[in-house]
Amino acid sequence: MQERYSRQELFNPIGKSGQNKISDKHVLLIGAGALGTGNAEALVRAGVGTITIVDRDYVEASNLQRQQLYSEEDAKKRMPKAIAAKERLSQINSSVTIHAKIMDASFAELSSLAQDVDLMIDATDNYDTRLIINDAAQKYNVPWIYGACVGSYGMTFTIIPGETPCLQCLWDNIPMSGGQTCDTAGIISPAVNMVVSYQTAEALKILVEDWQALRGKLVMFDLWENTHTEINVKKVKKKNCPSCGEQAYFPYLSNEKLMKTAVLCGRDTVQFRPSEKKTIDLTEIESVFSSQGLVVQRNPYLLSVTFAPHRVVVFYDGRVLVHGTNNVTEAKKYYHRIFS
Ligand SMILES: [Zn+2]
Repeated sequence: MQERYSRQELFNPIGKSGQNKISDKHVLLIGAGALGTGNAEALVRAGVGTITIVDRDYVEASNLQRQQLYSEEDAKKRMPKAIAAKERLSQINSSVTIHAKIMDASFAELSSLAQDVDLMIDATDNYDTRLIINDAAQKYNVPWIYGACVGSYGMTFTIIPGETPCLQCLWDNIPMSGGQTCDTAGIISPAVNMVVSYQTAEALKILVEDWQALRGKLVMFDLWENTHTEINVKKVKKKNCPSCGEQAYFPYLSNEKLMKTAVLCGRDTVQFRPSEKKTIDLTEIESVFSSQGLVVQRNPYLLSVTFAPHRVVVFYDGRVLVHGTNNVTEAKKYYHRIFS
């Protein structure tokens, strides 16, 4: 397989020794949507040793415009994104070890996953999860690369524990979310690809341990408005930061209740996650609702039942998505109907 990476090895800052380092490294990718599929494909093609992909969602038709690993068939079958991504990535590079995890990136899971990896890449769509990644990165001394995009706008920053400010430090000083979510603004794929390019370039530098080459600045751009800004944020690192300061106590690694019920970005969907691990008998749920004449669909990973105009999806781990509402109280009625 030597020839496979010959062009990357000819690139001086990587070389043969850099390629060897890349093939020894393990990257944790949190999220397998637009940013996640872009990062995953680039890193798998680059020959990373191991990649672990965490995602809680399944493929839908509206993903196909920008989520580059997925097909119409994946959307038709409602394949969990982690599984569909793994299948496609294995076709692209069979020598990479790929772990697919269908689950929410809660503090417990991220704390345990972070301890085994060399780098984490943020490909989520929400700040609750990013703050958990931020704390896990600080606690276990793992670099991570923040990335976000909406509309034609994108933003990215590389966080090295002990060196750079963390997300919490930035958060207190810079308007990070822009006030928009994909609910209202939509998104175009070049904005995604631009963030992915910044993230994977920084990832390669970290994997080959070329620390001097890291950008060190917060990047913000708008491809439609033709703006590009780089901000030197060194000074915003706070000594009393709860996540990276001298007496850090990692607040987001202990407050799981933040994530139990979540309204999902741009999805008109409410998610419920059980407070403890369990395994659900989907066959039993299927037979109960089928016998009531409801439309039930299943694949090996999840079950979907329609209570028109709402549709409810149940995963093996007890996680439930209620589609067709942003109202938690209304969604709870369906949650209780599943587990009554
Ligand atoms: Zn901090």
